[in-house]
Amino acid sequence: MIPDISIVIPLYNEVDNIEPLCQAIIGVMQDRSYEVIIVDDGSTDGSTEKLKEWCSLRSNFRSIHFKKNAGQTAAMDAGFKYATGEYVVTLDADMQNDPSDIPKLLEKLGAYDMVCGWRQKRNDPWIKRISSKVANSIRNKLSDEDIKDTGCSLKAYRRECLNKIKLFNGMHRFLPTLFKLEGFSVTEVIVNHYPRKFGKSKYGVFNRAFRAFLDLLVVRWMKKRKLNYEVRND
Ligand code: UDP
Ligand code: MG
Repeated sequence: MIPDISIVIPLYNEVDNIEPLCQAIIGVMQDRSYEVIIVDDGSTDGSTEKLKEWCSLRSNFRSIHFKKNAGQTAAMDAGFKYATGEYVVTLDADMQNDPSDIPKLLEKLGAYDMVCGWRQKRNDPWIKRISSKVANSIRNKLSDEDIKDTGCSLKAYRRECLNKIKLFNGMHRFLPTLFKLEGFSVTEVIVNHYPRKFGKSKYGVFNRAFRAFLDLLVVRWMKKRKLNYEVRND
């Protein structure tokens, strides 16, 4: 049976987060019709074995395993391709996002094509909080946007819209803008954010800032060069 909702989770070396994350999702989703697709992005810490074991016991949990690490956007993209639900939800595997926010996002999806989580109270080290604030304001200025927290992985989408978006490495951070470029509607809702309890962040502040800045220039270019024409009917 095709589920209504597909929850897609990119996961790289998060072995201690797998069990609490999956239990939390089961607790929140209860009797809704859903599937969980966890994309193991080349983990080497035992996550692969743990995921295989977990998914073998539950019919609505599925894991996909990359041969080697290919990056968070690739992991999300693979999850989108395997998703079958009308609605897709993404969140991080590290328990920094709160699965109990999922129903709030889905509720808004009735009126919008994409709903983005906004981590109003960030629970990250100060350097990350500040760099994210700076990055969001530069990103909004240069790409003429007003998204408060594009980096929040907790998002919900209509799958038919996602299918129209071609992703490139790093572009998961620009999904709200890519959606708007296609003419889709986007909104934001405030969500919880928790400190990481297990495992380590996969990104350094400076390497991410540099990469994301280059990506921003590409997105700015795409917005400027968007085709804009109307056919006359006379
Ligand atoms: N992740 C991934 N592949 C990567 C890097 C990260 O699948 O190459 C996953 C990671 O396991 C987590 C999410 O992407 O589920 C976000 O990563 P992280 O929590 O390290 O980012 P941060 O919260 O520090 O920005
Ligand atoms: Mg995280």
